[in-house]
Amino acid sequence: MLARAAGSNAERTRTLSRDTERRRLHSVIDTVVLDVGETITRDDRYWASWADWLGIPRHTLSALVGAVVAQGHDNAEALRLIRPGIDVGAEYRARAEAGRGEELDETDLYDDVRPALTALRKMGVRVLVAGNQTIRAGQLLCTLDLPADAIATSEEWGVAKPQPEFFERVLEAAQAPADRTLYVGDHPANDIYPAKAVGLKTAHIRRGPWGYLWGADPQVAVAADWRIDSLTELIAIAAH
Ligand SMILES: [Mg+2]
Repeated sequence: MLARAAGSNAERTRTLSRDTERRRLHSVIDTVVLDVGETITRDDRYWASWADWLGIPRHTLSALVGAVVAQGHDNAEALRLIRPGIDVGAEYRARAEAGRGEELDETDLYDDVRPALTALRKMGVRVLVAGNQTIRAGQLLCTLDLPADAIATSEEWGVAKPQPEFFERVLEAAQAPADRTLYVGDHPANDIYPAKAVGLKTAHIRRGPWGYLWGADPQVAVAADWRIDSLTELIAIAAH
């Protein structure tokens, strides 16, 4: 079940309905769905806390995460390089029990998140947040009262990117046809290619390690309907 990210009232709902109707006549994007890590949040705290927990320098872990992802592996592989045989799930729980679990607050958000999402919703665009995250990360995001209609995570859905089933769940939540739903993400193999494969529109954001690494990649240029440097650019895309 999708968590409500922000409250609404009857008048606002009526206004949004009118706006949505108007937009359906003129626009190609009804719903914008955002990835989480390095799309709306910086991953600094996440990886720094893992490095501190494992007792290694923060730069060492960040560089290893970059290396394994560039090699096509899951980022958890970096933890296995440092500690072979590590049970990542068990270690995640041990961190929480030690009072050093996953945290996320306003300071982790990129500065453009609130203004861009607020502007999109004012235009009548449905805004969702859906990424490969833990249930706890989803709960923490909900406490931020983001200008979003709903927030969902892979752990909550029991299916993760790049599996097509994840994007089928995205479409159910979007309440819009695939070609009028825009998925925004930084990781081509997890966000852009699989979203495109199920018919969604896609925007690759050039920030975070993967955003820069693959920002000028010719394959991404073909698969991404838009390439952006800021979420603010989504306003013009949705108003097109
Ligand atoms: Mg991401």
